[in-house]
Amino acid sequence: MTRRIRHILSLSGGKDSTALAIYLRDRIEDLEYVFCDTEKELPETYEYLDRLQAFLGKPIVRLKHDGRDFDHHLFLRHGFLPSPLNRWCTEHLKLRPFEHYVGSDIAINYVGLRADEDRQGYISHKPNIKAVYPFREAGLVKEDIIRILEESGLGLPAYYRWRSRSGCYFCFFQQKIEWVGLLENHPDLFYKAVEYERWSEGEPHRFTWTQGETLLELSRPERVAQIKRENAERLQALGSRRANRCLLDVFADALEDEVSSSSACLICEL
Ligand code: SF4
Repeated sequence: MTRRIRHILSLSGGKDSTALAIYLRDRIEDLEYVFCDTEKELPETYEYLDRLQAFLGKPIVRLKHDGRDFDHHLFLRHGFLPSPLNRWCTEHLKLRPFEHYVGSDIAINYVGLRADEDRQGYISHKPNIKAVYPFREAGLVKEDIIRILEESGLGLPAYYRWRSRSGCYFCFFQQKIEWVGLLENHPDLFYKAVEYERWSEGEPHRFTWTQGETLLELSRPERVAQIKRENAERLQALGSRRANRCLLDVFADALEDEVSSSSACLICEL
């Protein structure tokens, strides 16, 4: 008997995987939509997924961890926070739930990398899961993705005003200005992230989410003002190089460029 091939799109709550869901809705029959929920996502992400689900007219399956959540893993590691060089969070909270959901079935995993991107990232490499890249194959670039989102009525995720990517509210891939954005838009979540930094107090090594300073240090008014000033200067420089662009677009592009070059986790951020 021939084994059925499953078609699965893993959503991150970001613009590219969302646009891919819209793009494939009427192209792939029996497409399964899933979202690996770390339970640490931004409220804007959950709201965006709900709107996408209504648009698709099909459920987005929410995949959870195996009962051992982020806090459990952090406890086992004595407060050792995940980082770009040690992404245990992606492994336990994103990749494993996805691979468990697929099981031993043969599956095609649709990934939202665009034709104008040249990057690698974390995806499943199990032999029964084959990744395909429809945007790349069709030559679709960022402008096309924005158009797909606008024509659907969904637009960009609301967090895009202050943050360039989806993922956990405390994601270590955030730039300093995005931490300031979290502080100003979701102070409750910012201070939860502060609490996670405290887990390694008293340990031989103190872990912080962002390089060179704790979040409490980053949140001091003079430091926030400095980060904003430096960011404004950077945007001015970029804005004059990218003529006719509003600064909001330049901001999003600049942050996205930095994250893209850092080989982030595709399952978290696309
Ligand atoms: S979004 Fe960031 S913190 Fe969350 S699982 Fe992915 S890499 Fe880890």
